[in-house]
This record gives sequence, C-alpha cells and structure tokens, in this order.
Amino acid sequence: MKISQKLQQAHAGPNPPPATFSFEFFVPKTSQGVQNLYDRMDRMYDLNPIFIDITWNAGGRSSTLTNEMVYTAQSTLGLETCMHLTCTNMKVELIDEALDKAFKSGCQNILALRGDPPLDGSESTGDFKYAKDLIKYIRKKYGDHFNIGVAGYPEGHPEEESEIKTLHYLKEKCDVGADFIVTQMFYDVDNFIDWCKKIRKIGVEIPIIPGIMPISTYAAFVRRAKWSEIAIPQHFLDVLDPIKDDDYLVRERGTELVSDMCIKLLHSGYVNHLHFYTMNLEKATVMILEKLNLIEAVKSHDVVGSTELPWRKSL
Ligand code: FAD
Repeated sequence: MKISQKLQQAHAGPNPPPATFSFEFFVPKTSQGVQNLYDRMDRMYDLNPIFIDITWNAGGRSSTLTNEMVYTAQSTLGLETCMHLTCTNMKVELIDEALDKAFKSGCQNILALRGDPPLDGSESTGDFKYAKDLIKYIRKKYGDHFNIGVAGYPEGHPEEESEIKTLHYLKEKCDVGADFIVTQMFYDVDNFIDWCKKIRKIGVEIPIIPGIMPISTYAAFVRRAKWSEIAIPQHFLDVLDPIKDDDYLVRERGTELVSDMCIKLLHSGYVNHLHFYTMNLEKATVMILEKLNLIEAVKSHDVVGSTELPWRKSL
C-alpha cells in the first residue's frame, strides 16, 4: 500500500494513535550482515512500523542488493517497504531495471533522490541531474503506481547556500509529483518548526516526515551531526558532554533528549509520524518508542484513545 494512504488511514477515525513510526535500514556490506538485518527486521516488524525503507548506494553500487532486500522485506517479511533510488551516475537503463524490480516485488513506494555527487569531484554521468528529473521520469513511466517521497533539509543542503533557493527546489520536487517529504536528521526542533511554516507558506502541502537519529554513543552522535552539517543545540551538549565516555549513560540521557524532541515535534501540529534512522540497530530506537509509549499505543490502535500516554498529560 502507498505510504500516504497508510498515513491517512492510521490517523483517521475517532481514536488515532498519537503518532505512527517507520524505520530506515541501510544495505549491509556482507551477506552475514544481510542475514542479521533480515532477522532484525523480522523482530522489528512486531513493533508495527507503518513502513520501512531501504537505502540505495549512490552510483548504483550494491543496487542489486537493495532490490533484493526490498523484495524480501515486502514480499517475504510482509513489511510495507519504500525503496530509495538515487540518480547520480545512473543511466536510464539502470533506473529502469531498479524500478521494474521494485514494481515486480509489489513495492509501491520510492524515495526519489539525486544522491551525493561522485567522491572524486567529477561530474555525474547519470541521465538525470536532480531528484526532480527522476520524479518526472517515474511519473511518466509508471503514472500513479508509485508513491514518491523526496528529501527535505530543514537546515539547508550543504551544496546550496541560499535558503530561498533550497525551499524553491523542494517545491519544484513537490510540483512534479512528490507525495511526501522525509527530512534530513536534525536536533533543533524550533528550526524545524520554522521550516515547516516556511514550506507550508510556499504551498507545499504534502506530509512532512521528520528524520529522527537516535543517540547511541557520543562519538557517533557528534560525527553524524558534523557529517550532515546540522546544528547540535546547546542543551544536548550540556547533558551529553560531561558523560561522553560512558556509553550506557549517553544512551539513557540521549533517549530522554530525543524523546523530548519527538514530543515537541508531535505537539507542533506539523507532524504525526516519526521516521527513525536505525543505523541497522534496534536498541536505541526501541528505547525512544518505549519512552514515548508508542509501541503499545500503535498496537492497540482501536483503544488508543483510552490508553494512558504519560507524555500526553502535558498536552
Ligand atoms: P536534489 O533535490 O536534486 O538536490 C541536490 C542539490 O541540487 C541541492 O543542493 C539542491 O539545492 C540543488 N538543486 C535542486 N534542484 C535544483 C535546480 N533546479 N537548479 C539548481 N540546483 C538545484 N543518499 C544516497 O546515496 N542514498 C540514499 O539512500 C539516501 N537516502 C537519503 C534519505 C534522506 C531522507 C535524505 C534527507 C537524504 C538521503 N541521501 C541518500 C542523501 C542525498 O542523496 C543527498 O543529500 C544529495 O546530496 C541530495 O539529494 P536530493 O534528492 O535532496 O537532491
């Protein structure tokens, strides 16, 4: 089923859950890693994500594996799956092959991306320059078969300094057929809310799905923020810096910080779904879902209105 339909259904009716959630997994490097990931996906199925997604290695490296994993997740494990597809260094024949395999797997959701530019600084040899060109192509070839997601950058994209242009390019992706937005990870909720206001103001009306990166170790937390060029709010550093060498405490306090952030997001009115960058791990994501009481809430969807959600008391 299409993600936008799933979102609509999950949040319709008199007693919708306070939030639904989904998980991103990346393609492992070894076959043992793939098997381990299938086992993990199978376990995480029980948490009731409304979809999962599987990344694509820009340039088409291990693309066959992405297709294979999408097939297994969608058809064998029964998880609604969204396939990432990038167009950097991708000839149209490769795009066709990937889409055809996704179609045959029963996959109905594609996150259409440009992908990072080639590492050696050369020009992409692909047939599509920007994500919007890939979206147009998918729409032309498959009509409405695929629900198409696009990337959004609440703190801007590293290659474009102008905020106005970045907003405009997002709008372009929506205008050519995007159905939902998944954002880059972030920790600055106030900035995210401002960004939501701005994109709504320029006429972007599709669902906004915030990308949530759990905190497992201090080093990974700082490294990922730096790599994605996103800000770390001072209060995160105040809590985590003094305990940075204690992985257990970092995960505990990190879970509290990210859960508080999710509550603020859900109260903002712009968001009713949380997308977790699992990094192929379970624990840190599950800790946040448990803290938010979302696992039970989603499971008992029918009675969720009467479920006591600790953080809802603050509403
Ligand atoms: P685009 O929207 O095409 O934008 C790329 C750049 O071009 C931006 O700087 C934009 O401002 C600029 N631009 C866009 N349109 C125009 C225009 N008309 N004229 C001039 N400039 C323009 N990468 C992977 O390799 N594999 C993945 O699976 C993957 N998954 C991701 C998932 C999410 C949720 C996110 C946020 C990112 C993901 N990425 C992934 C990273 C992504 O591929 C990079 O951030 C990439 O640099 C940009 O991709 P895009 O789809 O946002 O590109």
